[in-house]
Amino acid sequence: MIELSGWGRHPRVWAEEVKSESLERITEAASLSRGLGRSYGDSSLPAREGATVANSTAADRLISFDESTGLVRAEAGFPLFELVRHFLPRGWFTPVTPGTQFVTVGGMVASDVHGKNHHVEGCFGEHVTALKMRLADGRIVEVTDESEPDLFRATLGGMGLTGHILEVSFRLQRVPSPWIYGESEQVPNFETLIERLREASHDWPYTVSWVDSVRTHGDVGRGILMKGRWAEPHEAPSHAPEIRRSVAVPFDFPRWALAPWSMRLFNYAYFHKHGAGVHRGIEHPQDFFYPLDFVRQWNRVYGPDGFVQYQAVVPVAQDPGVARRFFDVLTRAEVGSFLTVVKDCGPEGRGTLSFPRPGISIACDIPMRGDATQRLVDALNAVVVSAGGRIYLTKDSLTRREDYERMDPRLERFREVRRKWDPEMRIKSAQSVRVFGDSAE
Ligand SMILES: Cc1cc2nc3c(=O)[nH]c(=O)nc-3n(C[C@H](O)[C@H](O)[C@H](O)COP(=O)(O)OP(=O)(O)OC[C@H]3O[C@@H](n4cnc5c(N)ncnc54)[C@H](O)[C@@H]3O)c2cc1C
Repeated sequence: MIELSGWGRHPRVWAEEVKSESLERITEAASLSRGLGRSYGDSSLPAREGATVANSTAADRLISFDESTGLVRAEAGFPLFELVRHFLPRGWFTPVTPGTQFVTVGGMVASDVHGKNHHVEGCFGEHVTALKMRLADGRIVEVTDESEPDLFRATLGGMGLTGHILEVSFRLQRVPSPWIYGESEQVPNFETLIERLREASHDWPYTVSWVDSVRTHGDVGRGILMKGRWAEPHEAPSHAPEIRRSVAVPFDFPRWALAPWSMRLFNYAYFHKHGAGVHRGIEHPQDFFYPLDFVRQWNRVYGPDGFVQYQAVVPVAQDPGVARRFFDVLTRAEVGSFLTVVKDCGPEGRGTLSFPRPGISIACDIPMRGDATQRLVDALNAVVVSAGGRIYLTKDSLTRREDYERMDPRLERFREVRRKWDPEMRIKSAQSVRVFGDSAE
């Protein structure tokens, strides 16, 4: 038995974890699959202590690549960092990348991940053409949007609950160079930030912003807006970007290190380090896409109690005041957020339960402080429910079932598909017990 957790290190569950190059073999008796464990909460944890989880990471083969179409076929455990290392110097990149490259393609499908270019490319699932899956009844099938649209769409963003993903076919995109041309600038407050993000999304494929979320007066919601696009060959250095070395956090930080004063200091320093004016220039792709990957095990900064990453999307066009209400709750809470990231989301994709919808996505890292953190998540969820928004399941560990049910009218459709393909509910997770009401047994 091994103690498993997601990236937030809360909660933790003892489980039987099986790992092999043959996913077909280990998924036979498993009640859930998991990849590199970069989901933050309990979506990759078993429904009950001692249950068997199939770890895909030893099944990491690249099966095929067609240079004329960009179509890749890989085993579910194939990691994104291998894809970047192999393909980027050769002029190809994944159309959608999350903010870390330490994820598997199976995990990218199950969470239907989105990136800084959601307003242009949608989620990863929009670029997936086929999945090989082991279903709850033991069968192994090839699933496409044409052959079994209900199963295919429910698997995109279905948090592993529709079956085990064994192989994924998806399309890569050509890039003009392996470098990024980026621009960044300070923004004085939240309202301006949202407006500037929207404007930027017309001209830039990649946009994102960081917000100072501990400021309670004056320029609340001040931040830094970052935009990027692939550099053209004449702008880019003639050499390929070297692989950056990372450093590790050697131990769990003590609790006091995350006091409100240190959060204020960090946010103040981050804002002022940028300085006034627009910064422009060529950026290393790892600096642009994966800044947090430089610090291995950075989750230890939150200490042994772990943390929660709370991410929600709120429809600001219908309810312009919602972002301000959200920030009011966040900045006044007993526990604050160290790092808050705001992105612009484009139209809803084809995944039945995929997270993004038109609006603004706000993600914040909140130290785990028991009831105080639960109270904050409840209060943020109340704002999200009132605005017609929803949370991102791959980040979640504290949302209550009744809140989630109020957020997502698509849940009933998802339940129907699960009942059809897994009537005995053999495949489940700690999260599906908590949020969907599955039985743990
Ligand atoms: C620093 C950081 C930045 C991030 N940035 C983003 C971002 O910008 N956008 C975004 O969308 N996400 C982001 N994420 C979240 C991350 O992309 C997702 O949680 C992703 O699913 C993790 O992949 P994984 O291989 O680690 O999967 P795990 O965490 O191991 O599992 C995640 C889910 O996928 C299921 N799953 C995994 N493999 C399989 C399989 N073979 N078959 C069936 N189900 C499976 C699991 O059951 C679980 O429900 C970020 C995470 C971190 C740590």
